[in-house]
Amino acid sequence: MNLILLGAPGAGKGTQAETICGRLHIPAISTGNIIREALKSGTEMGKKAQSFMDKGELVPDEVVIGIVKDRLQQDDCKNGFVLDGFPRTIPQAEALDKMDVTIDKVIEIHVPDEQIVARMSGRRVCADCGASYHMLYKKPKVAGKCNFCGGALVQRTDDRPETVRARLKEYHTKTEPLKDYYQKQGKLAVVEGQEEVADTSRLTLAAIEA
Ligand code: ADP
Ligand code: ZN
Repeated sequence: MNLILLGAPGAGKGTQAETICGRLHIPAISTGNIIREALKSGTEMGKKAQSFMDKGELVPDEVVIGIVKDRLQQDDCKNGFVLDGFPRTIPQAEALDKMDVTIDKVIEIHVPDEQIVARMSGRRVCADCGASYHMLYKKPKVAGKCNFCGGALVQRTDDRPETVRARLKEYHTKTEPLKDYYQKQGKLAVVEGQEEVADTSRLTLAAIEA
């Protein structure tokens, strides 16, 4: 199954991508994680992306389209994949439609803006492996430490409230039109983000299996 997760920054796409991965045994592809990795290893692409990311703006289409095109050609995508954070603009969706894959379903995790800003303040990531946590909703086993590698949990610089507002604005103007785009293709399902992660996961899996 080839899936797309849509949703505002901080709506919980990454967490749901992990759930789907575990259930369907298909890879989750997060453009945000791929870009942050490139940034950490200091590649040209990473350097180019950083200034946009720091301002809460989207990275140029041609950069992310290239990333996804390469990633989807890898062997582990043969039996399906879940895209987390791509496409985020109409041109990205059109480029994806031209790649050699058919999208089966698009799930939007819907969370109202006021809740997004509050949630983001509690979000933390592992400085070493990038795993994500939340101080209220997805606590690590040991406070401040990553479950997988023991790395320190830090706040992403783009999770600061000023940047979150900029990201939300980008979301509403550039990404939200994708709902219509996929609705017209008959592929869109909307899941209301719940207080408890497990409840959202149940709804997400039900939407996929429907
Ligand atoms: P979130 O979903 O919480 O916003 P991500 O980790 O998916 O976080 O994305 C972080 C940043 O990476 C975005 O604000 C943007 O700058 C960049 N980015 C990730 N995916 C894309 C994309 N498909 N198009 C453009 N920029 C992207
Ligand atoms: Zn870690």
